[in-house]
Amino acid sequence: MKHSYIGAKWVPGSDVYRDVNPSDTSDVVDEFSLGDEALADHAIDAAFDAFKGGRMLGIQARADALDKVGSELLARAEELGELLSREEGKTRPEGIAEVRRAGQIFKFYSGEVLRQRGERLDSVRPGMTIDVVREPVGVVGIITPWNFPIAIPAWKVAPALAYGNCVVLKPAELVPASAWALADVIGRAGFGDGVFNLVLGRGSGAGQAILSNPKVGAISFTGSTGVGARVMAAAGPRFAKMQLEMGGKNPLVVADDADMAVALDCAIQGAFYSTGQRCTATSRIIVTSGIYAEFRDALVERVSRLRVGHALSPYTDIGPVVSEQQLRSNLEYVKLGSDEGATLVYGGTLKDCETKGFYMEPTLFADVDARMRIAREEIFGPVACLIHAKDFDDALEIANDTEFGLSAGICTTSLKLANRFKREAQVGMVMVNAPTAGVDYHVPFGGRKASSYGSREQGSYAAEFFTTVKTSYTHH
Ligand code: NAP
Repeated sequence: MKHSYIGAKWVPGSDVYRDVNPSDTSDVVDEFSLGDEALADHAIDAAFDAFKGGRMLGIQARADALDKVGSELLARAEELGELLSREEGKTRPEGIAEVRRAGQIFKFYSGEVLRQRGERLDSVRPGMTIDVVREPVGVVGIITPWNFPIAIPAWKVAPALAYGNCVVLKPAELVPASAWALADVIGRAGFGDGVFNLVLGRGSGAGQAILSNPKVGAISFTGSTGVGARVMAAAGPRFAKMQLEMGGKNPLVVADDADMAVALDCAIQGAFYSTGQRCTATSRIIVTSGIYAEFRDALVERVSRLRVGHALSPYTDIGPVVSEQQLRSNLEYVKLGSDEGATLVYGGTLKDCETKGFYMEPTLFADVDARMRIAREEIFGPVACLIHAKDFDDALEIANDTEFGLSAGICTTSLKLANRFKREAQVGMVMVNAPTAGVDYHVPFGGRKASSYGSREQGSYAAEFFTTVKTSYTHH
C-alpha cells in the first residue's frame, strides 16, 4: 500500500483505492491510501511552515535539484512510461513520450531558476529609485486531471518550485501510481522538508480543502470546465490567485485546397490518438464543400484501419478509455448523436479485445449540424464530428461558434487562408497543417473563453502565475 507524501514522510490516509488497469481489469496496478480534508490541511501546514521557515533551497541547489528530477525521469522514461500506460491506458510510446516530456520540463525550469527577473526604473520624482522584483507566491495548491498524469503535474510543480514556492499536489483519483512515482523522484531530489507535498485523495474532500484553506495563496487547476467553475466559486471569494486550464471542443478546418494526406493525418492524430482523451483533441472536423465527400470517405477508411487494443501491445494505435464511467459517458454521447440526426459513419460500439478492458471503436459522425450537442459539448473520448461548411468564411464562423477556445487547426496550402485563420481563430493555440493536439513544452500553453482562466502555463510565461510583483521606492 502506498501513501501521500507530506513533510518528507509517507503518510497514510483513511480510505483504500485499488488502482485498476483499464486495458485489463483483472490487473491491479497497486493499492493506495486516500486522504481526506484533514490530510490535505496537514500537507498545507507542512508547505506553509516550509515557506515561512525559508526551507526552500538557494538558487544553485534548487536548480541542481530540478535538474536531478529531470535526469531521473529521462533515465527511467521507459519504466515509468509503461507504468503510466498501464494505469491510464494511453499507448506505450505515448506513455514513454509523456515521461520524457516531464523530464525535459524539469530540465527547462532548472535553467529558469537562474534567470533572474527584475528591473530598476527611473522615478518621475528626483532622488527616488524604483525596483521591481518578482517574489514567490507562497503555498501553491496544484490539482490535476488523469489524462496526462505525469506531464501536467510536472508542468505545474516544476515552475512552482523553480520560482521559490512550496507545493501541495492533489492528482486525479484515477491515477495515483503515476503521481506517486513522480512524487518519489521529487522527494529524493533534496528539496527542503515540506517544500513539496503529495496528497492522494478525492476532489470532493482533499481537493475542496485546498480550495478553501487560506494558507494556499495560489491554485493551479487543470480539469473539466464544470469543476473549474467550482474551483473559482470556492477560491475566488478569498481572492486566491488562480490559473484554470479546462475543456475544449477543438476544431480542425480542412479547406478545399488542403493537401489530402496532411489533412487526414491531422484528423486521425488529433481526434483519436491518446483515445481522444486530450484537452486539445480535435473533436470537430469542419470541411469545406469542394473536398467534403472525398475527405469523408478517405477519413472513414483511415479510421477503419486504427487498431484498438491493450495499451502495452506494440500493435495498438488506440488504447482503452480510462474508466468504465468515461466509457459509459462516451456511449451516451454516441446515442445522443444518432438521436440528434447525425450520420454514424464508423464505430459507435464497444470493442472486444483479448483482455477485458474499457474498449470502444473509434467513432465518427458525419453530416453533423454545428448546433447539435455532440458538436458543442466536450465528449473527451474517441468520438469526432464531421461538419460540412459552405466555404472558408462559414468554416471559420463554425470554428469560433463555441464556448471553448483552447486550440484550433487549419489544413490548407494557401498562405493567405492560413494567415487569416491565425488572426481570426478565437483560441490560445493555432496549428497550421498540424494536429490540434501536440504542443511543445517550453512555450506558452493555454486558451480563451471557457477553456482557460488566468495567465499562461509553460515556458518562461509561467513566471507570471507562480510569482507576484513587488515595486519598491527608495528615497536617497
Ligand atoms: P475533473 O473531473 O474536472 O477533475 C480534475 C481534478 O479536479 C481532479 O484531481 C479531481 O479530483 C479534482 N476535483 C474534482 N472535484 C473537485 C472539487 N470539488 N474541488 C477540488 N478539486 C476537485 O477532470 P478530469 O476528468 O480529471 O480530466 C478531464 C478534463 O480535464 C477534461 O475536461 C479535459 O479537457 C481537461 N483537461 C484540460 C487541460 C488543459 O490544459 N486545458 C489539460 C488536460 C485535461 P478527482 O479525480 O478525485 O475527482
